[in-house]
Amino acid sequence: MSNQSKQENSLTMNIVTDIEAWQVIRNNLGNKTIGFVPTMGNLHEGHLQLCQRAKRENEVAIISIFINPTQFNEQQDFATYPRTIEQDAKLLSDHQIDYLFAPEVNQMYPDQYEIQVTETMISRELEGAHRPGHFNGMLTVVLKLLNLIKATRAYFGEKDYQQWLLVKKMVTALFISTDIIACETVRASDQLAFSSRNQRLNPTQRETAAYFPKILKQTETIEKIIATLQSHGFKVDYIAEKWGRRLGAVWLDDVRLIDNISTTPQLTD
Ligand code: AMP
Repeated sequence: MSNQSKQENSLTMNIVTDIEAWQVIRNNLGNKTIGFVPTMGNLHEGHLQLCQRAKRENEVAIISIFINPTQFNEQQDFATYPRTIEQDAKLLSDHQIDYLFAPEVNQMYPDQYEIQVTETMISRELEGAHRPGHFNGMLTVVLKLLNLIKATRAYFGEKDYQQWLLVKKMVTALFISTDIIACETVRASDQLAFSSRNQRLNPTQRETAAYFPKILKQTETIEKIIATLQSHGFKVDYIAEKWGRRLGAVWLDDVRLIDNISTTPQLTD
């Protein structure tokens, strides 16, 4: 899709794919408050709630879609990741988002990924232990995006809780002035967290997948939770309690699902 293709597609939103063109636009936005939601596209209700919040709390709302090759630890996962940019652009336009930033890989990595951001503690556990290199790729691209968008606030989902912790830690460590805001996980009516990877579940798997959040919420030991998940056909990467959350990652055949819930009583809901 070309730059500024708003008129061509009768969208009420600007689509920017060129980084230099974006930088000119960004300069012209001056001191307006900017809400930013980084995504990999294939937008669902979870993404849209982040977008709506970005729009509500800021003068300008900007969403990025960038399927970041460096955060996929498996080539097959990158190859099969759903790419639905036209449909996503329409959705964002319908939600009155101001800008869709969708850069090309070669423009985002002029350094060929020779410059990387590494965190040496949290990034080694759970998701990091099971997906080597994933958090390096994620932090590197988020830093690039935060530097380009220069947002007032950036919105991240609690569904990827470890990611949110790492992004928050990075902006503090590197003195980045964007506020990093966590948004509650958005779930389908059967409790399964919305995820782009849910699209790869067949109808039977989709039914089974709904047991994952329900089992995760049970007041049981971790060992019992793992055993119950296995008895429903899940292969378990990990179930762990950390950071006031119970977090888990499971497989249904070749589809990997993650989720987490709070383990501390909420004062408000
Ligand atoms: P992704 O496109 O998967 O990289 O996700 C982009 C952002 O949307 C991340 O901050 C995710 O945590 C967030 N997100 C994805 N799914 C959900 C969901 N079900 N509820 C809330 N946020 C989500």
